[in-house]
Amino acid sequence: MEILENPWPTPFAPLIERGNFPPLTFKGSQGSHSFSSGTALNMYVCGITPYDATHLGHAATYLTFDLINRYKRAAGDAVNFVENITDVDEPLFERANRDSLDWRDLGQSQTDLYRNDMTALRVFPPSYFVPVTQVMPLIDQAITAIVKNGYSYKVGGDLYFRTKEFLPELPISESEAIENFAQRGGDPERVGKEHPLDPVLWIANKEGEPGWQSSHGFGRPGWHVECCVISLRYLLGENFLEGNKSSDTLIDIQGGGSDLIFPHHFMSAAQSKAMTGQKFAKAFVHTGMIGLDGEKMSKSKGNLVFVSKLLDQGVDPVVIRYALLQGHYSKDRMWSDKVLRNAVSEVQNIRTSLAMMEIAPTKPLISTLIESLADDLNTSRFFNELKMWVEDCHKGMRGGSAGELSRAMDSLLGLTF
Ligand code: ZN
Repeated sequence: MEILENPWPTPFAPLIERGNFPPLTFKGSQGSHSFSSGTALNMYVCGITPYDATHLGHAATYLTFDLINRYKRAAGDAVNFVENITDVDEPLFERANRDSLDWRDLGQSQTDLYRNDMTALRVFPPSYFVPVTQVMPLIDQAITAIVKNGYSYKVGGDLYFRTKEFLPELPISESEAIENFAQRGGDPERVGKEHPLDPVLWIANKEGEPGWQSSHGFGRPGWHVECCVISLRYLLGENFLEGNKSSDTLIDIQGGGSDLIFPHHFMSAAQSKAMTGQKFAKAFVHTGMIGLDGEKMSKSKGNLVFVSKLLDQGVDPVVIRYALLQGHYSKDRMWSDKVLRNAVSEVQNIRTSLAMMEIAPTKPLISTLIESLADDLNTSRFFNELKMWVEDCHKGMRGGSAGELSRAMDSLLGLTF
């Protein structure tokens, strides 16, 4: 797999009037933060492990960061957006073994499918889409900095990260953290570790797994350090280990699903600080999970709903996008046939209204759209107003411009009606 710039086509986003774009505010679990207009944004979003196709949970996550991207672009600001591909990981090797495939071929085919899905959903591509396999020398270099700064130790042939100094900032209780750590690839019970939560930085090669030559032995990197290196190298440049001299943090936004809060994002932030001495991100933006028919959607339950399957069944990608943007990004939400049916009929109602000879006023609705997005991407507030606007159109209210409203929804929400 290669490093790709703009890995899928950039969707067309019509220009809209650059009136007042309030600061974009996030009220994350780790405090709120506002990004004012007139400044560029450095955003890193954790990408896929390509052992399976894009499910609706992935889609909801990437649509959230697409809203941020679209808002800043519409306000006339630059967005530097980087996403990784975790193309070296246990789930990938396990699936490849199970299906008698080469792990590289499996990774490539699932990444291609993801790119198709993102294209259909009209998501803006990242500036850089970086597979872990392509940055091994940089990871080697970054781990060397961590070792030099005293944040590592060896157990057998494996190199571990020393988390002690960062533990007071744990986002959850220590016992909960140990449980999450074990569920998400960690080894809290390994004998010889200084602390159960210390994650591996470099894993000595195991039989049947790929390995790379490095200053830390022949093997492969741990999960968290990969994201530190890719985010910092592709957002800050080649001298990323020197930190970001133009800001008090290394990057602006670190994003991903809420299942990444611990250990992944906590450890990425800790390891970035251990490498550079600087705080990682201004805002951590985490998206809720998408469930199915009242249950958690998961690989182990076998109830994942894949974007590509819905598209094959002829579902309009606008409808998928519309349905996923209804609830607040940070909340867990449910998917069901009913959710899909409602979205189909609501999209149809909006299309019918936009095609009427006279439509209800649109200027206040466009202002609501911009204000709602600025307020922690509060899409539900806008969609409630949009549904009222549909009713107003049918009541015979007039004075609106279908073109203006369509362009605003296209540009800011990626919805073409
Ligand atoms: Zn990551």
